[in-house]
Amino acid sequence: YRDMQDMEFTIEDGKLYFLQTRNGKRTAQAALQIACDLVDEGMITPQEAVSRIEAKSLDQLLHPAFDPDALKKGTVMGQALPASPGAAAGKIYFTAEEAKEAHETGERVILVRLETSPEDIEGMHAAEGILTVRGGMTSHAAVVARGMGTACISGCGDIVIDEKKKQFTLGGKTYFEGDYISLDGSTGKIYDGDIQTQEASISGNFGRIMSWADSFRKLRVRTNADTPADAANAVRLGAEGIGLCRTEHMFFEPERIPKIRKMILSKTVEEREKALEELIPFQKGDFKALYEVMEGKPVTIRFLDPPLHEFVPTDEKDIEALAKDMNLSVEEVKSTCSELHEFNPMMGHRGCRLSVTYPEIARMQTRAVIEAAIEVSKEKGFEIVPEIMVPLVGDKKELKFVKDVIVETAEKVKAEKNSNLVYHIGTMIEIPRAALLANEIAEEAEFFSFGTNDLTQMTFGFSRDDAGKFLVDYYKSKIYESDPFAKLDQNGVGQLIEMAVTKGRSQRPNLKIGICGEHGGDPSSVAFCHKVGMDYVSCSPFRVPIARLAAAQAAIADKRN
Ligand code: PEP
Ligand code: MG
Repeated sequence: YRDMQDMEFTIEDGKLYFLQTRNGKRTAQAALQIACDLVDEGMITPQEAVSRIEAKSLDQLLHPAFDPDALKKGTVMGQALPASPGAAAGKIYFTAEEAKEAHETGERVILVRLETSPEDIEGMHAAEGILTVRGGMTSHAAVVARGMGTACISGCGDIVIDEKKKQFTLGGKTYFEGDYISLDGSTGKIYDGDIQTQEASISGNFGRIMSWADSFRKLRVRTNADTPADAANAVRLGAEGIGLCRTEHMFFEPERIPKIRKMILSKTVEEREKALEELIPFQKGDFKALYEVMEGKPVTIRFLDPPLHEFVPTDEKDIEALAKDMNLSVEEVKSTCSELHEFNPMMGHRGCRLSVTYPEIARMQTRAVIEAAIEVSKEKGFEIVPEIMVPLVGDKKELKFVKDVIVETAEKVKAEKNSNLVYHIGTMIEIPRAALLANEIAEEAEFFSFGTNDLTQMTFGFSRDDAGKFLVDYYKSKIYESDPFAKLDQNGVGQLIEMAVTKGRSQRPNLKIGICGEHGGDPSSVAFCHKVGMDYVSCSPFRVPIARLAAAQAAIADKRN
């Protein structure tokens, strides 16, 4: 059968009978070993070897797992969304600060939050695992944890949490700060106590299979990364560029957040421009570091996307500090912050709409992108062609408006620096209207990147952060088979994508097209991206090998058909 077999036999009256044989089940590690052995023995071709490995199973090789014997004794207390794979065990902490402090004293930490926000980033970095009560597969916790390779379970509605008292109840037990729990981010299971984990290990077979995969695939594979460390990790795992740098993630460090808050609360353009000036060195430094790590590979930088209220302070101490810094009263700061409140922030003042109201933000980001590219090209000799990506576009004129701001600034910077740097301006396709009018949008956009997190949210009309709560009922009732935020809905959202690819290329035949929603690392969605003729997929660093393998499998299956 040219594969490892699981055989049943019996011996009766001295006679050997074979009862049945079938392909044996195997771990990911064993699958790679068997495939390579069979190639070496001349039993199968490298193509067959590549096709036989389940792409998703590579997660087992790239993330820690529980010790199988220890796991047998584990008690499952609850289950929720497997938002980021891997096993983690540690002591519960309820705030990012406490998680960070505990980590610094050598503790293994599990951060438990109602939901995470960008302000929690340092605590998330410190944690072995993250557990959130709310949120879906594309919520902040899920996306960021996946990027960092940290185990995460999200949307655990069974938890009754009291963050102030620092306790929660799950499966009939109340947990307090410092108690141990264990998370399996690959299955979504939450265990009682401290279960031993094993480090991930990659063998030489992994590299062989991956290089075979690379020789068959047509799709390029990029990564979603906004720190040099994540980008370097992704390159190690085979990323050929950055498909999405979410610039908002760069503003939350303690030194920077007061500056962006000052920008948001500015009353006049002049004040705002002054505040933005202070941010330029940080942004530019970040972009330079990314360009350096990527050594001339393509880097797509997405301009500020989230609604501004996500940046404003909620903590009394931070509000007071900001008031002092801006020469305002605490009441004035509070009232401006509350003016930013929106009923549906996901459909509110965000994405390119921010640049329409405040073109100075796009100007600052353009200056940072272009100056950084010119400097790194000169300093390191890389040929850098920055790709600036405008989010949440729904109309050609809207894109044109922002593009004009970008071009004007970029050309000014180039003239100042006497540079002939080439750059591209493109857009995300994440609003159904943009897909419907993709031919018009392509008049202005040099590339499309499908933001399928938002495109899924807006096509289904349910919130990516809240849908987890009721989707379980949909699976139980067999209305939906799987989470459309994890596995692309090819029937519905897929139609919009296919249409946008055709319409976009009808206008601009050499339009570069990719995907940067979380589906870019899901094997069946990657196969769909191959089928519709995208140029690349972009996914979180640890999913890069999965995407490489899935892309190869799609190309092989395509050739066979
Ligand atoms: C998306 O919407 O698919 C996307 C990549 O952008 P974000 O997740 O940052 O909204
Ligand atoms: Mg989006």
